[in-house]
Amino acid sequence: MKILFAGAGALGTRFGYMLFKNGEDVTFIDSWQEHIDTIKRNGLKVIIDDKELGNCNISIYRPEEAKGKYDVVFVATKSMQLKSMLNKVKHLIHDDTKIICILNGLGHVDTLKEFVKEENILIGVTVWTSGLGGPGILKAYGTGKTEIKQVKEDNLDKTLKLIEKLNKSGLNMNYSADTYQSIWHKAGLNCVLNTYCTLIDCNINEYGSYEKHLDLTRAVLNEVTAVGRAEGINVNQEVIEKNIENCFDPRTAGLHYPSLYQDMKNGRLTEIDYLNGAISKLGKKHDIPTPVCDVITLMIHSKEHIGGNK
Ligand code: NAD
Repeated sequence: MKILFAGAGALGTRFGYMLFKNGEDVTFIDSWQEHIDTIKRNGLKVIIDDKELGNCNISIYRPEEAKGKYDVVFVATKSMQLKSMLNKVKHLIHDDTKIICILNGLGHVDTLKEFVKEENILIGVTVWTSGLGGPGILKAYGTGKTEIKQVKEDNLDKTLKLIEKLNKSGLNMNYSADTYQSIWHKAGLNCVLNTYCTLIDCNINEYGSYEKHLDLTRAVLNEVTAVGRAEGINVNQEVIEKNIENCFDPRTAGLHYPSLYQDMKNGRLTEIDYLNGAISKLGKKHDIPTPVCDVITLMIHSKEHIGGNK
């Protein structure tokens, strides 16, 4: 089984490493030249839980250099890069290629449907985390799990077998009919913590230390819940609020600065259009006002603009 990672950043290299280590045929695609050159020269250097686990000789190419067809493609770009990546790897996909998408945020199925049949799209949500310690260096902590669902559930047997095979590498993937609810619950949490921490300039614990944090949280989540329910998703606001509160503890995620905060600080564009921006867009579709998400989206974009983020 040939497995392609369309995006060899933090998450792509972590999953790719686990599969490669277990003997799977893994190939990376990326466009970051220094990263590609370093991996070609030295292999991917792997540091997990502060332990150096050696270097892995995983093939890596620019999209236009890659040839052949792949049976499984993990898309592992930032949300706003998904469409451009799919355009660049469509020549590597055959009629039965399964595309696995576990990007954060909302709206990815619509993009994926432009390129592959719905029965070949596996959409999911992951709580694995990962990072890069520079070009060619995977630096990650802990373990995680992933929930996944085939968009159109025809020929599900093949997918269930695929998940079983991927799990032999420790991916800890679980097929679940409730995946859309989990995607919305994670997006709801990100719509609150990612954006407020960025705008207030604080970590998650500091956000939770403000006595009226729940007013801020609910201002966003009331809109997420209303829009999600209009989309037919059983969004449970209480669960999202609880999940957010569980992150405040410094022993869990409290000292963490969310990914959107880090992208903003590092001069990168953010995934805001797939979080609060997606809520605004879907709100318009259903005639549901989303003034809080509208303003947050504009504020994040204005911050990207002022910072010259790219
Ligand atoms: P990343 O920026 O580290 O990796 C993306 C990679 O894709 C980069 O190396 C980039 O060079 C490459 N890329 C992007 N567009 C490309 C294109 N058109 N052609 C070639 N290469 C291209 O991002 P990440 O942290 O791995 O996140 C990926 C997704 O997973 C995001 O949606 C993120 O929110 C989600 N996620 C990340 C984590 C985490 O801990 N990193 C956890 C859960 C979910």
